[in-house]
Amino acid sequence: MEPVRFSPPLSQQRYEFVISFVNNYKPKKVADLGCSECSLLHRLKFWNCIEFLIGVDIDEETLRRKMHTLTPLPTHYLEPMERPLNVILYKGSVCEKDPALLGFDLISCVELIEHLEVDDLDKLEDVLFGFMAPKAAVITTPNADFNILLPKTQKFRHPDHKFEWSREEFHSWALKVVKRYNYTVEFSGVGKPPPEYEDVGFCSQIAVFIKNYTESEELINIKKQYKSIYKTVLHVVYPSLQEEKYLRNAVLNVALLHANRMKNSLLCYHKNKEENKQDITTGVTDHSKETYTYSKWCFGLETETQSKENEVAQPFIQGNTIHIPLEALFTISKVKKLCGTLDVLKNFIAGEVTLSADGKTIMYPVYLDDVLEV
Ligand code: SAM
Repeated sequence: MEPVRFSPPLSQQRYEFVISFVNNYKPKKVADLGCSECSLLHRLKFWNCIEFLIGVDIDEETLRRKMHTLTPLPTHYLEPMERPLNVILYKGSVCEKDPALLGFDLISCVELIEHLEVDDLDKLEDVLFGFMAPKAAVITTPNADFNILLPKTQKFRHPDHKFEWSREEFHSWALKVVKRYNYTVEFSGVGKPPPEYEDVGFCSQIAVFIKNYTESEELINIKKQYKSIYKTVLHVVYPSLQEEKYLRNAVLNVALLHANRMKNSLLCYHKNKEENKQDITTGVTDHSKETYTYSKWCFGLETETQSKENEVAQPFIQGNTIHIPLEALFTISKVKKLCGTLDVLKNFIAGEVTLSADGKTIMYPVYLDDVLEV
């Protein structure tokens, strides 16, 4: 028989399964138990809904091997995320209770349980469903029924596996768990068998558990008293716009970039107007048309938005000073989104630039003669 091959690889299909669950349920707090080299965590950190991402593994060396893939890059500081994101790795056993794992929306155990001795599996059951009690849990494990399609070189698929369950064994374990801990379960899998062997099921079997109740505050507080035993191996906090220093930076970057563009557009507009002076034969200046032309020049405004946008103060030149009204900057959607209100924009920008006496415009000195001669 041709060896079974999976495309994409089976491990990736398992990660995709968890990711699609995250996509549907939008959990904020997610933990991966037996996270090994953090491959799933690395993929999950790109998901916008997640604010706490935790990995636990008993093997510290394995955790450390690729943990750098979880740390922020310079681009994260240049363009901070909107949400806060804490990533923590713990060295610890899933058979032990640690309050760090309380209050989670999703806990995944991808190809973990088959590495546990029977006694430890009983402990995991109590720790995961009784103590941690996440809103949802995804557990994947090899499906022994599928093994007839794999080359038989050893007892199990991996030398460290303590067991491999048939679908019936996995289902009966999961059904016992949901009854005891008040969850519901649905079964699924990844790694389709070839069409002529469909009755063996998926190569990796998966159970998705959903909690049927909400824990009382009293119980959660009792659990929080447990002594912490996990060792923190990594804790990184991603820069986010929720932190004022990053928000202030982001506002300044965007607002000053646009203020500068407006200033340059206004100068170009004036230069252009001066150059075309000879063509004006009637001697009558239509100021409303001028403003429109300038708006269009500056912002690329469409005709239908012209009157609305014209209600907003426009950049102007007074003497040797260019004024960029904060109101005009606030029409830039990114500035508006970051600041929320004009007052916030003013607060962030004050002290970084020269504002007019009434605090309504940014003032840039300009030597118009020089500019017009360019
Ligand atoms: N989940 C990972 C993935 O899919 O990429 C790989 C899982 S690997 C097959 C099993 C992992 O479970 C190993 O990294 C091992 O160190 C970890 N492990 C075994 N027993 C454990 C325990 N009692 N507590 C925490 N982790 C454990």
